[in-house]
Amino acid sequence: MAERALTLSLIYSTETLIFSMLALLLFAYHRGLGHAYIKFWMFSFAALAFSQFSYFLQNVLNQLEIGSFLDITITLVRQIGHYLFFFFLMLGVYSATTQDKKLAKVVFLGIATSVIVGASASLFYAFDASYVFNRFYLRESLAAFIFGCGFIAAVSYLLSSHISHFAGKILLVFCAIAGVRYITYSFASIVSLTDDWFRHLTQWLVFVDMGGYIVLGFILMVWIQGRERDIASSAINRAKYLGMHDSLTGVLNREQVIEKLTGEMKIADDKAKKLCVYLLDIKRFKFVNDTYGLKVGDLILGEIARRLNHSILKPKVVGRLSGDSFMYVVDYTNEQQQQAALEHIHALIARPYQVAQQEVHLQCSVGYCDFPADADNADDLLQKSNLALFQAETNNIHSVKYEPGMQSQGRHLLAMEKEIRQAFNSEAFILHFQPQLNLKNNRLEGAEVLVRWQHPDKGLLAPGQFFHDIEALNLFSELDSYVLEKTCQTIARWYKTYKRRVPLAINITAVEFQAPNFIKNIQRLLKKYEIPPIYLELEVTENVVITDIDLVMNTITVLQNMGIKVSIDDFGTGYSSLAYLRKLPIDKIKIDRSFIQEVASNDSDLTIVKTMVELSHGLGKRVLAEGVETKEQLQLLRNIGCDAVQGYFISKPISEEEFTKYLKRK
Ligand code: C2E
Ligand code: CA
Ligand code: CA
Repeated sequence: MAERALTLSLIYSTETLIFSMLALLLFAYHRGLGHAYIKFWMFSFAALAFSQFSYFLQNVLNQLEIGSFLDITITLVRQIGHYLFFFFLMLGVYSATTQDKKLAKVVFLGIATSVIVGASASLFYAFDASYVFNRFYLRESLAAFIFGCGFIAAVSYLLSSHISHFAGKILLVFCAIAGVRYITYSFASIVSLTDDWFRHLTQWLVFVDMGGYIVLGFILMVWIQGRERDIASSAINRAKYLGMHDSLTGVLNREQVIEKLTGEMKIADDKAKKLCVYLLDIKRFKFVNDTYGLKVGDLILGEIARRLNHSILKPKVVGRLSGDSFMYVVDYTNEQQQQAALEHIHALIARPYQVAQQEVHLQCSVGYCDFPADADNADDLLQKSNLALFQAETNNIHSVKYEPGMQSQGRHLLAMEKEIRQAFNSEAFILHFQPQLNLKNNRLEGAEVLVRWQHPDKGLLAPGQFFHDIEALNLFSELDSYVLEKTCQTIARWYKTYKRRVPLAINITAVEFQAPNFIKNIQRLLKKYEIPPIYLELEVTENVVITDIDLVMNTITVLQNMGIKVSIDDFGTGYSSLAYLRKLPIDKIKIDRSFIQEVASNDSDLTIVKTMVELSHGLGKRVLAEGVETKEQLQLLRNIGCDAVQGYFISKPISEEEFTKYLKRK
């Protein structure tokens, strides 16, 4: 008898240890991967560990007085633990196989039921030593019956949800065996409780159960691995796909367009021909990307480029100027041809796009102007078509031809130009700063400079409220130079007053990044304000980097050699990029806010972010996550190894005054 008690103590303590370890392992998985089903399985094994621990206690304390406080407490823990184990096990399976995220109610109900059933089974007949049989039926037979039915139900659920992976199939077999084991046991216990063979069976089952639960733990681990692989492979497919995209449309980019157009102008001049420069912008293209996904969006852009390139009018120049805006140039001799070309463009774009078994319909806005009537250089032609396009878009008209009076007609722009120039002179553009937190040492690592317009009438304006005017007026380059100089001044001023330098990151527009004297200008400013280059960081958006890779790569290399850091902004939103990431000598990628928004609630976003972090680290780049708004997001990002974060949760962009206060507080 004593020998038997010793064996049992040994088994129960071993089980307690193993199940606690499995629970810990699941906890580690959950921290890294963040999925809810892992958490449920972790609870399940933790509950099992508790339950087996109370068996152990009961066994060690041996012959507890029935109805004593200790007896009842231990039984309560054992029973409730057992039911919770079963509930969380099943909930985990359900959560792993559905997209159902709203399980809070189910969790509450399940815990409540487990506690009520477990407590009832422990407390009924608990105080009277003579009810040995009833106690046993209630505590053991009932539980066995419930588990048996539950496992059988799980079998039919798993069968109906068509799980294809290995662990799912094994779990199915496991549930079937466990179901039979428990149901048989529950009946046998009622029929033959006092028989010898039943006692032997019970003794053997202790070993069988231990083996079974351990196997279960491993099945769950295999399940987690398998599922992660599935998610990762779909994320990697997407990543690969993102990386493929230099030859997305196969047409000229902005610089090449300017060059080609200049050449065509000379030829037209010689032949006494006229050129018409059409600028088209696809309406609501963002909607296409959002609805059908980036992949379909890119396929469509490629198709648009192909249609324009192969159009029967034999265009002289076809190019893509940015995401969804294209240029199309033809030569013509009379007005009718110009109109016909216009209709042709609209018809080309309007023809349905057949992608992934869907039909997508699109329209475009067109702005156009003439060479030589409207301008005699490529830049001006582009700008004038752009003005016409701007009119078309703001007034929602299909096509608008540039007219000499247009600038004054678009009174708004004219007035804006004056206001904006005044703002430059009166230094009404001010800098705000958004702190960036280093997750490795929990210190401020720098700040991003974000421009604001302190407007005399309209108050403080964010970039979204005036950037379209700046763009239409072609004033980005001036704005960037302005911000650059102001930033250098700020770094110098802080050094003078606080003897402290904070690295500042500024946003640089595409065009500016490729300007010939861009680097010289930076060198001049660093010298003038005596700033070590490591305190300056430039953010370039992904789109730019990709369309003009060689040029930008040169610029980045020169900057890096000077000691200035360059990072890729809005990473993940562009048409590009992982493939280039390897080639680009950049320091840091900034994962776009859109991925972070859902990171805590959407498995596939979490996996994508994880993949980005891993790939970037593999390439020796640091990773910053933008737009972190909650503690949960921060915690997840920390767990998956992100280096730094920025977002409202740390701080909104704040004025210089507030920022220096912030610095002092830190
Ligand atoms: P960005 O470079 O992606 O800058 C981050 C934007 O996200 C900022 O908007 C910032 O206020 C906002 N933001 C930061 N954290 C959070 C968050 O947790 N939640 C949400 N919802 N938003 C957050 P802002 O200041 O309106 O700037 C918009 C964009 O304008 C910037 O996007 C940047 O591309 C551009 N920009 C800003 N300043 C400059 C500048 O000086 N020069 C140039 N060329 N572009 C600038
Ligand atoms: Ca930025
Ligand atoms: Ca950004």
